[in-house]
Amino acid sequence: MAVRLPFDNSYARLPPRFFAPLAPTPVAAPRLVRLNVALAKDLGLDAAELASAEGVEILAGNRVAEGSQPLAQAYAGHQFGNFVPQLGDGRAILLGEIVTPVGQRRDIQLKGAGRTPFSRGGDGRAALGPVLREYLVSEAMAALGLPTTRALAAVTTGETVRREGMPPGAILTRVAASHLRVGTFQYFAAQGDTDAVKTLSDYAIARHYPEAAVAANPYRALLDGVVARQADLVAGWLLIGFIHGVMNTDNTSISGETIDFGPCAFMDAYDPATVFSSIDLHGRYAYDSQPGVAYWNMARLAETLLPLLASDEDAALASGKEAIAGFAPRFEAAYRGGLRRKAGLLSPRDGDVALIQDLLTRMAENKADFTLTFRHLAGAALGPENDEAIRALFADPTSYDDWASRWRIRLLDEAASPDERHAAMQMVNPAYIPRNHLVEAALEAATEAGDFRPFETLMDVLSKPYEARPGLEPFAKAPDPTTRIYQTFCGT
Ligand code: AMP
Ligand code: MG
Repeated sequence: MAVRLPFDNSYARLPPRFFAPLAPTPVAAPRLVRLNVALAKDLGLDAAELASAEGVEILAGNRVAEGSQPLAQAYAGHQFGNFVPQLGDGRAILLGEIVTPVGQRRDIQLKGAGRTPFSRGGDGRAALGPVLREYLVSEAMAALGLPTTRALAAVTTGETVRREGMPPGAILTRVAASHLRVGTFQYFAAQGDTDAVKTLSDYAIARHYPEAAVAANPYRALLDGVVARQADLVAGWLLIGFIHGVMNTDNTSISGETIDFGPCAFMDAYDPATVFSSIDLHGRYAYDSQPGVAYWNMARLAETLLPLLASDEDAALASGKEAIAGFAPRFEAAYRGGLRRKAGLLSPRDGDVALIQDLLTRMAENKADFTLTFRHLAGAALGPENDEAIRALFADPTSYDDWASRWRIRLLDEAASPDERHAAMQMVNPAYIPRNHLVEAALEAATEAGDFRPFETLMDVLSKPYEARPGLEPFAKAPDPTTRIYQTFCGT
């Protein structure tokens, strides 16, 4: 069956120093373990073609599709605060871009496709567990409504990878608005290659911020645009309890998508200092540190753009500072607006944020589950007869009662009816998130026993996170102390 992938590869048309052209390294015995049929359709691709023998060969890197110009992208990045002038795609290969039926340009990338000139000591491969984790969590993020890269397919390679326990190897087909990162700008800026920074900026503007092209200063408008999208993104993460775990500048996307799902995790009990990643020894990327880190990452982007912001150095610096100063207000507005919606406060009043902050403080003191507290708050919005579900989450239920009585007085000021409020709150407070213990159990069954049923079930549960469905109660529950997971690993 001929596989039609209508590639149009704009990145491959950039100057040669932007990438290394190379094909994926073939694998021993590719097998498709998951295809995202709905996403394939959105991309205008034929799922049956992708699932055919030829399609699977393409998804495994054993065959280069017609029109594909495979390449590894060059980039740099600050990793945990330390600048690394050359990182690049060490195990990912961009097959090319396609334009979807509604006109969106999307990268099609294989992650785990073999060594590249950027691999350094790495093997260029990915293990099945982390591939399935990225598949699950990125698709869950999409269903939750956050900007994110997507997962089109996962194939196993028939080979093992050099990791602890010699796990099975796999390749993820990742779909992204682009793979431009803050680190891509840093790569050229660190070499003093202002021409390349300009070329890259023009490319980013055309691809992601077309409105910037007609601004008084397009490069300043580009910076403003990235700052705004990153502020919104991180606010969105906090509002659903997401911890990225590796917010290095090479994992910070210019398009504003969540990218690179390594040791990321969703919080169970609310604790703003939560850190899951085993490699984040100092808690640099803790839950409540994420806005500050995103701001820091935006400052690194601003530095790369200075030569383009103004010809006068002082003026350029002032412009860059002004742009990143836009982060905090943008973040605050998005975060506070989101908190209000989560608490059903749809007609803004003074004191709303303090009221919700007080709930968060009480949740932290009482180790209340973040997702369930807000989900059940939608029920409590109908009346105090539904309070018990929340009280049960608090070590001291009276701490919730005290707060709820003040919340109900505040609700009297709302224009919406209780039913409207209930419905609106359910649309922003998910019933299901990729809870770590469920994710781990699904990955373990797949990697240890070749049993993909728990993975498939979890994918189905997470496809409609805001819609409570009968029979799925176990997937909404918080972990008990024996199943709760406190640490996650990259496994890369
Ligand atoms: P990540 O932690 O996935 O964001 O990757 C950081 C850098 O390490 C990137 O340059 C990756 O391409 C590279 N890298 C990660 N894993 C491997 C691997 N198994 N082989 C080669 N390079 C890798
Ligand atoms: Mg990365």
